[in-house]
Amino acid sequence: MPRVVFFDLDGTLADRQSALSDAVTSLCRSRALSADAEQWLRTALAERATADDFARLQKAFGLKASAADLWQEYVDLMAAAVTCRPEVLEGLARLRAAAWTIGVITNGASDIQRAKLAGTGLAPLVDGVAASGDLEIRKPDRRLFELGATRCGVSLADDGWMVGDNPAGDIGGGHQAGLRTIWLRGRPWPHGLAYAHHVVDDVTDAIAILLNETE
Ligand SMILES: [Mg+2]
Repeated sequence: MPRVVFFDLDGTLADRQSALSDAVTSLCRSRALSADAEQWLRTALAERATADDFARLQKAFGLKASAADLWQEYVDLMAAAVTCRPEVLEGLARLRAAAWTIGVITNGASDIQRAKLAGTGLAPLVDGVAASGDLEIRKPDRRLFELGATRCGVSLADDGWMVGDNPAGDIGGGHQAGLRTIWLRGRPWPHGLAYAHHVVDDVTDAIAILLNETE
């Protein structure tokens, strides 16, 4: 039986929130942005960031720098600021050593999500990546899970797992894709959504459950 697990990236393998705060602070300092522009940016990027946010920022505040330049600087800053804890990297390495295939299925722009995977050291531990920006479809859309499976050289019929912090996107989407699920608790659970197979406080607990499966 092939062993396949897909992980969400932001808030699951990597801590986006603290990286976001640092990256926005650095960008605003480097571009000498006003306090208003900084506040606007923090609100706009709270859930996710796209190049289009920087086009709107540039327009709203009449900035001289091009939107493309601002976006690129933000991508570089995020890639440098985002981290993955050593015990998570170690856990993924143990999964690989136990013959697991590891994919990342993430809602986010293709360039920034891949820059984050490289910056955190996750990239070499992952067999395939599907970012919503690749196809302009987002979790919980089953097609993004299919893309993730294809990029890992596996099939969704291979009885895999999905691990993530977003109830609807990761757990609801995982169920629709025929995957077993592990939820990292934190967000409110939507009424009526089917429960995850396991609920954990930390992604390392999820990895421990998966390693147990293979013993
Ligand atoms: Mg997430």
